[in-house]
Amino acid sequence: MKILLIRPKPHKETIGLQKVMICEPLELEYLGTYIKSYGHEVEILDMILEKKPISFYIEKFNPDVVGLTAYIAHVNIVKEYAREIKQIKNCSVVVGGVHAEVVPEDFDSPFIDYIIKANGIKTFGQIISALQNNLSTENIEGIWGNNLSPIKETTFAYPHPDRSLVKKYRDKYYYMFHNPCALMKTSFGCPYNCSFCFCRKITDGKYFFRNIKDIIDELKNIPEDEIYIVDDDFLVDRDRLLEFCNALDEQNIKKKYLIYGRADFIAKNEDVIKRFQASGLRAVIVGLESGREEELLKYNKKSSVEINETAVSILNKYNIECYGTFIIGIDYEKKDFSNLYIWIKKLNIKFINLQPFTPLPGTELYDDYKDTLIISRDQFEKWDLAHTVVKPVKMDIRSYYFNILKIYYKITMNPVNILKMIKKYGIKECFKLSLGTSSITMQYIKKSLQKEIR
Ligand code: SF4
Repeated sequence: MKILLIRPKPHKETIGLQKVMICEPLELEYLGTYIKSYGHEVEILDMILEKKPISFYIEKFNPDVVGLTAYIAHVNIVKEYAREIKQIKNCSVVVGGVHAEVVPEDFDSPFIDYIIKANGIKTFGQIISALQNNLSTENIEGIWGNNLSPIKETTFAYPHPDRSLVKKYRDKYYYMFHNPCALMKTSFGCPYNCSFCFCRKITDGKYFFRNIKDIIDELKNIPEDEIYIVDDDFLVDRDRLLEFCNALDEQNIKKKYLIYGRADFIAKNEDVIKRFQASGLRAVIVGLESGREEELLKYNKKSSVEINETAVSILNKYNIECYGTFIIGIDYEKKDFSNLYIWIKKLNIKFINLQPFTPLPGTELYDDYKDTLIISRDQFEKWDLAHTVVKPVKMDIRSYYFNILKIYYKITMNPVNILKMIKKYGIKECFKLSLGTSSITMQYIKKSLQKEIR
């Protein structure tokens, strides 16, 4: 069968980080590799990088099945793609991805045939096999609507992704200064339970990981030097991390790593961070969330302001970049923004991501806020963790956005930071990044200037 796998392009209303990063669609590469091993013809289409409309590619490839992956901000785009696809060809349309696993009903559409709510790769394979053999799909557990109760997988034993499936796009995949950059996934789920996060929902609260030998085997075949490990939290088990570093050295693998990690692990395990830095750790995305104890408690972060500060100082000490992410509470007023800026500056963090507090559907918080949303559930393109979907309590929305922008501006336009970045990454990379951040800034400014901000 001919299978076309599509990564959607975000809606123009989405304030998107694709201005500063475009990462390879690893989930589609895994899926494509698995399907190909059963003899099917597979193509991956990355609509972020393609210029022509979806109809062009459907006519050109003439697929029997189209697979679409999506985050929450893509729901409407994916439904629109499905409608356009069905107008051209009566092929089967399948939707999967993290949002489909948590809130599958959001994709309910007459143009979508199957929504995968569990075990994406396995379920997709079962659908293809049933379609090929003209069998019923009614007993496939992972399909939403079949009213079966699939148990989510707790192992990951799929073939390594065939990265040549995105060969024509590979040199365009990057993450800020990590350019070109490849993705890897080594674990699934997260052992923590922060109230705003839906990572645990995807695996039904389970956490499991691949063995180090398998990871090293995959790493050896990745051509890029920069590796972005997209585990929800890579810094969980110190013994596993030391085993990973030892294996890298034994196999003489010289790559650079960008990972997600928690502040409490970094604060408690300076020796592991130092060891990992020697084996290539270059940057850590840390969910610092807040410089206020009561907020960390409210988010069930199981961390503290002191732990956050210790973690950042350790990363700075070993010259590991800290990409700090922060949640901007809806109760923030001017002084809270000022305090946050002063705190970020004191910590000497050069890269920040400020996310308005967002009670994502599927999280425990959603029900508490569902009656106070200013961005409705069907405006999916604005559920991008950059729009505020809940009305700020102590400021008007315009001032709220303005204060977010002000912090971004003061941190990214700080001349000392700029000079340090140019020295470290070169003028070309810095220029490219500043174009990306300016474009995001313009989206915010346009938003603030709208008569009615939503
Ligand atoms: S925010 Fe991070 S640490 Fe917390 S549950 Fe989500 S992935 Fe885990």
